Amino acid sequence: MRNKQYPFLSLAAVNGPLLDEIAQAVERVVRSGRYVGGPEVERFERTLAEYEGTRYAVGCANGLDALRLIFRGYIEMGQLKAGNKVIVPANTYIASILAVTDCGLTPVLVEPDACTLNLDTKRLRQVAEHQDVKAILTVHLYGRCCYDNELEAVARELGLLIIEDNAQAIGARCPMNGRRTGALGHAAAFSFYPTKNLGAMGDAGAVTTDDEQLATAVRAIANYGSDRRYHNIYQGLNSRLDPIQAAILNVKLPYLATENGHRQAVAEIYEHSISNSAITRPLWADDGSMVWHQYVIQCRKRDLLRQRLDEKGVATDIHYATPPHRQPCYSAWSGLSLPETERIANTVVSLPISSAVSLSDAREIAAIINTINLNTDD
Ligand SMILES: *Cc1c(COP(=O)(O)O)cnc(C)c1O
Repeated sequence: MRNKQYPFLSLAAVNGPLLDEIAQAVERVVRSGRYVGGPEVERFERTLAEYEGTRYAVGCANGLDALRLIFRGYIEMGQLKAGNKVIVPANTYIASILAVTDCGLTPVLVEPDACTLNLDTKRLRQVAEHQDVKAILTVHLYGRCCYDNELEAVARELGLLIIEDNAQAIGARCPMNGRRTGALGHAAAFSFYPTKNLGAMGDAGAVTTDDEQLATAVRAIANYGSDRRYHNIYQGLNSRLDPIQAAILNVKLPYLATENGHRQAVAEIYEHSISNSAITRPLWADDGSMVWHQYVIQCRKRDLLRQRLDEKGVATDIHYATPPHRQPCYSAWSGLSLPETERIANTVVSLPISSAVSLSDAREIAAIINTINLNTDD
């Protein structure tokens, strides 16, 4: 008999329960005849700003563009200049860093904390003081809030901009002040790539901020740099939020709390059931500061673990196997030594987690993991 299969992420299963509502929303857009901008986009921007507790939300085409638009906005406003240094976590998805270099800014890679896997804020002050840094890009990786007193104090004392990459953490809250990720710094970038906790059915993104000038600049840059029709004050881009995607996001945003709640329940089962001594579970959190975009374990025998799991029908993934400083596009950094980042890249394994993973599936996956013998020398 063939094993039961546990897919890593079935997006059709995640979105299936909302099919009727989504189909109606898409039909509304099709019938409206309004295919760029319009009421669905405006409604999503309004609800996202309300959800976040920020004054402004501006839709755009994707998460990478959201970051680029923020940096471009600050450059147009004179708050950043080409060549300025921006602290970025060395352990992140490469898009965080692509946005910095695309805008002619210089990333300063900082190692992660071994427990959170996020930017190690204890290393910030030294780097920021010695390298004339102008901004910090904090990434809430895997859905875990990366913002604390130390980060805030360094930024305040040195007058640095704080920009959040909130692509993976929508719905998380900062334990320090109870505010949502995406409302912690000066501006935040969101991705609604289909696999994110709030996923569209194509590319989509947004910027949130309390800064009116930045919101206005971002909106203009995303629309060919025009402040009014056929009048261009910036050499802009075309990066607008598609109304069909906005309509889908309007359907899905009210269910985000359910999605994140289910992920928390799956994580809780993994936390209490995975007992294989060759595996390190992620730092536990049940205070809302972690929305489990990924459930990332660490294992020195990663390839063997993945192979055994695959044989038993459990699909896994790696986020991320090659850190940005080891990518061919950043060959200038190939000599950099970032041992913590490299250790993480060599040991992480992501387990299935989403509303498509039932609680009984999670128990079965944990039980399968516990049967695998990884304490051999092969
Ligand atoms: C997904 C992601 C992005 C990029 O978002 P896209 O919508 O795919 O462009 C940026 N940063 C992080 C951390 C991400 O996970």
